[in-house]
Amino acid sequence: MDRAQSEEILDELKKTYPTANCELEYGSEFELLVSVILSAQCTDKRVNKVTEELFKVANTPQQFADMPQEVLEKYIFSCGFYRNKAKSIIAASRDIVNKFGGKVPDTFEKLTELSGVGRKTANVMIAEAFKGQAIAVDTHVFRVSNRIGLAHADTPEQCEMQLRELLNPSRYTESHHLLIFHGRYCCHSMKPACNECPITRECEFYKKTV
Ligand code: SF4
Repeated sequence: MDRAQSEEILDELKKTYPTANCELEYGSEFELLVSVILSAQCTDKRVNKVTEELFKVANTPQQFADMPQEVLEKYIFSCGFYRNKAKSIIAASRDIVNKFGGKVPDTFEKLTELSGVGRKTANVMIAEAFKGQAIAVDTHVFRVSNRIGLAHADTPEQCEMQLRELLNPSRYTESHHLLIFHGRYCCHSMKPACNECPITRECEFYKKTV
């Protein structure tokens, strides 16, 4: 796979998902950070439902830094992994207050200094909140990239590095959204809908199995 082929794939996906974008609803960089932490192993739809109520009660780093964990757990229970997520949100909020003057940092390095914030969350923040170019590798991006042949990776970090190497840097963020949409709406984990897929010609998985 070379960059020209990857561009063709992205162009096809763009035609199929012209509105591919972040589906989390948020009103500030901090609200987005909380939503991204909640979105691990959970749908954006569910997260939006939970944050609609949660952000009425608290939506600043200081408010979350002061919130008892069991109170936060009650609000976010339905997102799954609620104990760990509550812990991460409170710890990240305290770091933002104590180390960054209450403002969400805007570089990858500083974002990953926040407790509970890994590469994926930091990359979403760079791409979405700070309008930079970044590829966040979630379960969809990992699966779909490997199937198509854009990556041959064993870990999300390896996948991110391979995608960064292959793809046009000015399309990193767009690629991230397109691969997520393709994973969500066509290239499903259990049963990919190859008969409806616009990129069968380029897809390694399709060529090998069909
Ligand atoms: S051809 Fe099938 S496996 Fe390949 S990207 Fe499309 S849906 Fe996924």
